Amino acid sequence: MAGTGLFAEILDGEVYKYYADGEWKTSSSGKSVAIMNPATRKTQYKVQACTQEEVNAVMELAKSAQKSWAKTPLWKRAELLHKAAAILKDNKAPMAESLVKEIAKPAKDSVTEVVRSGDLISYCAEEGVRILGEGKFLLSDSFPGNDRTKYCLTSKIPLGVVLAIPPFNYPVNLAVSKIAPALIAGNSLVLKPPTQGAVSCLHMVHCFHLAGFPKGLISCITGKGSEIGDFLTMHPAVNCISFTGGDTGISISKKAGMIPLQMELGGKDACIVLDDADLDLVASNIIKGGFSYSGQRCTAVKVVLVMESVADELVEKVKAKVAKLTVGPPEENSDITAVVSESSANFIEGLVMDAKEKGATFCQEYKREGNLIWPLLLDNVRPDMRIAWEEPFGPVVPVLRINSVEEGINHCNASNFGLQGCVFTKDINKAILISDAMETGTVQINSAPARGPDHFPFQGLKDSGIGSQGVTNSINLMTKVKTTVINLPTPSYSMGDGFISRL
Ligand code: NAP
Repeated sequence: MAGTGLFAEILDGEVYKYYADGEWKTSSSGKSVAIMNPATRKTQYKVQACTQEEVNAVMELAKSAQKSWAKTPLWKRAELLHKAAAILKDNKAPMAESLVKEIAKPAKDSVTEVVRSGDLISYCAEEGVRILGEGKFLLSDSFPGNDRTKYCLTSKIPLGVVLAIPPFNYPVNLAVSKIAPALIAGNSLVLKPPTQGAVSCLHMVHCFHLAGFPKGLISCITGKGSEIGDFLTMHPAVNCISFTGGDTGISISKKAGMIPLQMELGGKDACIVLDDADLDLVASNIIKGGFSYSGQRCTAVKVVLVMESVADELVEKVKAKVAKLTVGPPEENSDITAVVSESSANFIEGLVMDAKEKGATFCQEYKREGNLIWPLLLDNVRPDMRIAWEEPFGPVVPVLRINSVEEGINHCNASNFGLQGCVFTKDINKAILISDAMETGTVQINSAPARGPDHFPFQGLKDSGIGSQGVTNSINLMTKVKTTVINLPTPSYSMGDGFISRL
């Protein structure tokens, strides 16, 4: 059970503690932040509302702990990460339980998130050992006008303090996708978990604590992003920000200093369906892509752009599958569970009502109880409806009928987002041309958009992000190249003759 057994020390009465200087602490603010259970709409957990002074203290510790961590041999850093991964996987139950209670993630998927996170930490440790153990050696005479008098050695060095801010929908997985690359690369790490998802993150951080990482190297500051976020992101000690979330990322980018940013933001992933597509495959992928975790995924299918000639048939197939989705509590592994908050449910309802007023065809009756919204397929959506462009982050999938592939590509490219997209066709040549034409970070051919496997590059164009994730890309983003140049008095060639006379 969350906050018991091995995890008992992270709880103080009914409020979870924050983590600093290798210890679990109670904030001097005397205040806490409530975490609502999205399904019951009652307070489930409480976390500390940390103060600015506590942030300052954590940053100082992170700066000094990083100095000795950077001198810790790479194999030792990897060893500790493997240890943390094993502890995390051995103790998945309390983390999975808190994911169910604080973000209403179905129980099975919650376990999968924790296991996947352990695998990601281990993969990162292995990849880090390989890519950080290698440097480059360059010779000067490859550039015009130079003799071979300079040997250039390059290696990757850490940036310093990395600030990690994950979103509510994959709080554990998207936290470790920042923590593991930062640590293997020799950085220290300050985590600000999402409020909904904070308790799962605190349990995850305790696994790193139990693995024996040095004091001060990892910290976890809790509190509302709207209250403590600016102070964290604009803190002068921060050398890199890795953020995943919505539009907040755009304002952070405008305020942050001259530091590397990894921003993974929203998406409006289009699913383009050509008339030769396997419609059963498309229908299954719309269900998986549009309705998994109730549509609260950055890479959810958020608009279907289907050729008019096959639209009726596709809509019927998807409708039949929607009818089979179960709706209810996350504990019972229902396909559709409550969305994260009342404001989120209200926002989704606003998009649905706008579509209704403007004449969209409702394939199911709209139904909502509290934060629970029944799955909804909207046909005959037109570009003047908000749902054609905005990210519902809920179990609602709009279908726009198109008369040409160009129309589909134009709709996809007119979006201010550019995260992922997908195209369904049996013609691989057409698929490649469409993929090239779509202005998105990734295009999936004959499958729904997806972030994983976690070592694949993952990036958004336009308002969907800055930089690229995926294990290797994250390690590279959290390091800087350092070079040392050896200057020789005369050109030197290995196996060259006459070297004695030049000495
Ligand atoms: P969000 O509201 O932007 O919050 C993300 C994180 O930012 C949370 O930890 C939040 O803390 C924190 N935050 C809020 N205000 C802040 C501020 N002023 N300064 C610093 N941090 C602040 O996003 P969300 O609702 O959790 O997640 C949904 C969004 O994330 C969707 O748009 C989705 O598409 C996107 N997403 C993108 C990816 C990707 O990889 N591209 C993956 C998953 C999700 P609090 O919880 O305390 O407010």
